[in-house]
Amino acid sequence: MNYRYIDIHTHTNFAAFEGDRAEAIRRAQEAGVALINVGTQKDTSQKAVEIAEKYENGVYATVGLHPIHTAKSFHNEEEIGEGGKEFTSHEEQFDYEYYKKLAIHTRVVAIGECGLDFYRQDAGAANVRKQEEVFRKQIELAIEIKKPLMLHIRKAYKEAYDILKSYTGIAGNLHFFSGTPEEARPFLDKGFSFSFTGVITFARSYDSVICYIPLNRIMSETDAPFVAPAPYRGKRNEPAYVIEVVKKIAEIRNEDHETVRAQLLKNAEQFFGISLAR
Ligand SMILES: [Zn+2]
Repeated sequence: MNYRYIDIHTHTNFAAFEGDRAEAIRRAQEAGVALINVGTQKDTSQKAVEIAEKYENGVYATVGLHPIHTAKSFHNEEEIGEGGKEFTSHEEQFDYEYYKKLAIHTRVVAIGECGLDFYRQDAGAANVRKQEEVFRKQIELAIEIKKPLMLHIRKAYKEAYDILKSYTGIAGNLHFFSGTPEEARPFLDKGFSFSFTGVITFARSYDSVICYIPLNRIMSETDAPFVAPAPYRGKRNEPAYVIEVVKKIAEIRNEDHETVRAQLLKNAEQFFGISLAR
């Protein structure tokens, strides 16, 4: 396969794709789109690895514990499926050895999504401490196995940076970046990259930061099944739609689509240590 695009953060490992996972991945591959399924807890991490193993190329995985899953009572049907509530509402502890076993797999290209999420009002002081502890363990795992971090940071850019700054020899990508240029700056100085979703096709609040970040630090993602880009809004999102995100990044920056496409693919190849284009 000669891949022309990559969706670096997607979730065809989630229950939302149970009925047509293979078809969704085939549609991506036919459109020249490689993809990385991102784990959010034990089950979705394991599933991401199993899916990657089914393909000869172009399908990768990350494994990790999302900050939201460190708290009680979080349940998302698109992620876990209906009726799984009684099994998922417990708070997951970070099982270092479990994740390490998965993480050393050759198809696993990063640790995460991990980080801090202070968006929900009910986080509370105890959960904040728990999120920080689980985040640090995943940073340590990434350093130990020499793979980068897939970061989920929401309403906590300063707090996350304060944790990350004490570690050296670690690469990271801020997925679904929604901060300002000022919030991006310290992460840029640390050598980190940023990825954007389909939300940039219909919300103009991302334009200034997309223009601010150098092109060699930007990557493309869908975060499917969530936030489908225009013209697919309201539908379930899927990896093939990442092409709309790349088009929009070029349009916002007023740069040539082909130049942006090629650079974003190269950025992902370098960041994740994979080879996609022939
Ligand atoms: Zn995600």
